[in-house]
Amino acid sequence: MSDIERTTTQLPEPSAPAWEYAPAPESKEIVRLRDRYDLFVDGRSIEPKTGRYFETIDPAHEEPLAEVAEAGEEDVDLAARAAREAWETRWRDLPGKERAKYLYRIARALQERSREFAVLESMNNGKPIKESRDVDVPLAAAHFFYYAGWADKLEYAFPGRSPRPLGVAAQITPWNFPLLMCAWKLAPALATGNTAILKPASTTPLTALLLAEVMEQAELPPGVVNVITGPGGKTGGWLAAHPDIAKIAFTGSTEIGKVLRRNVAGTGKRLTLELGGKAANIIFEDAPIDQAIEGIVNGIFFNQGEVCCAGSRLFVQESVADVVVDKLKSRLSTLRVGDPLDKNTDVGAINNRDQLEKIAELVQSGIEEGAEIFQPECVLPERGFWFRPTLFTNVSQSHRIAREEIFGPVLSILTFRTPDEAVEKANNTEYGLSAGIWTDKGSRILWMAERMKAGVVWANTFNRFDPASPFGGYKESGFGREGGRHGLEPYLDLDGGAV
Ligand code: NAP
Repeated sequence: MSDIERTTTQLPEPSAPAWEYAPAPESKEIVRLRDRYDLFVDGRSIEPKTGRYFETIDPAHEEPLAEVAEAGEEDVDLAARAAREAWETRWRDLPGKERAKYLYRIARALQERSREFAVLESMNNGKPIKESRDVDVPLAAAHFFYYAGWADKLEYAFPGRSPRPLGVAAQITPWNFPLLMCAWKLAPALATGNTAILKPASTTPLTALLLAEVMEQAELPPGVVNVITGPGGKTGGWLAAHPDIAKIAFTGSTEIGKVLRRNVAGTGKRLTLELGGKAANIIFEDAPIDQAIEGIVNGIFFNQGEVCCAGSRLFVQESVADVVVDKLKSRLSTLRVGDPLDKNTDVGAINNRDQLEKIAELVQSGIEEGAEIFQPECVLPERGFWFRPTLFTNVSQSHRIAREEIFGPVLSILTFRTPDEAVEKANNTEYGLSAGIWTDKGSRILWMAERMKAGVVWANTFNRFDPASPFGGYKESGFGREGGRHGLEPYLDLDGGAV
């Protein structure tokens, strides 16, 4: 053994610095929770005709936050009639520049009340405050700003056509981005001259109901936006089936998307579906590996992995697989899991017990089918719905964890040798919402992007959203686009035949 080798081997192993984070809790004081929330119809709160309310909870503590109205068929009808009347008498013929003023007001009110929205979103959804504060709420405001800009320029967006609004839009949203999904749907609907009825997910209705307050604050004409709450199978079903509805915008599971598509067939109603995903995040050997590690972590652990476009299948070129897996394991060990309202938290609570059970069941199937699990050591709170950041190696394409949407903080790692193999494996899924490509070569990015069957392809980044950029799926991930100029189209009759 040479002197140098001897010296090197005798050096003590560098010990990892023990970073301790002091708690940095965001105060809840800014949120004024009501004991009970009614329906928002025709510009005011009304008690449900059913007389029934259901509880919404804080998933991080399993404690009730408030009671929320359960809308029955009669309530759905009231909302539909209010929205229809508002469309015919107060909104449809308002000049675009006047509609834009309301949208700007809503955007500004969201900004002014951003902390209140962020805290409430984290309380009701379980997502880390740094995400609701830095992503959900600013992006929601940005969507209203962006579409305000289009409201008086529809003729320029579709030259040579005669864009006309459709009427009343039913907008059914999921629990993973409760406020942001409302903004994605409401902003283009209002900008194009439609009125809307929002049906938020039952586990996360509170920011949609706070948004109703913003509509009042912005002095939006009554009935232009209505918010009704209640179980999807009933309230959502009645809403979608109501004859006054001209357009349905749905974000949620592929299963319910199929139900809606069947029910809407032959009715003449327009439909857009944003459904599930099983995105491929592809790392080539020439990628900037440390940046890619951050992109992988953001791709699957952002919002606890409860993201339809999450990078849940990682494809790593074989030559760098070991180094990527090692680095990922050590990065996972630094993620802080816990109180969503702590500003240092990286991974918050799972939104609801059913979802937690679904994640646990799929992870168990991964173990039983022979994949190798890694979870970092971390102490989980005693109450609430929690799941450790998880990765699987030794995954084969036939495993359920490589095929089914887990919708949780679970990454399945596979390998490839050539770009052709990467394309083939990445596209071998029934979904097609998003994909990520990490490489130093611009030409390879373009080559890959052309071949990916995915609505969004990110290059050397992941989970980047912008109101100017269209978002939507292929195959079982749905159809139609939200965002950008494309996002106006589903709310318009471009040949003027709708009215
Ligand atoms: P979901 O059942 O599809 O619910 C989405 C929305 O649709 C909710 O507002 C729901 O109301 C409503 N709904 C349910 N059944 C309906 C029906 N028959 N007619 C009309 N509306 C109906 O999705 P989820 O329970 O929130 O999540 C289940 C799975 O969907 C997840 O595990 C995940 O795989 C996927 N998901 C995907 C996305 C996405 O962005 N692509 C988002 C969330 C979930 P209720 O809340 O009252 O049931």
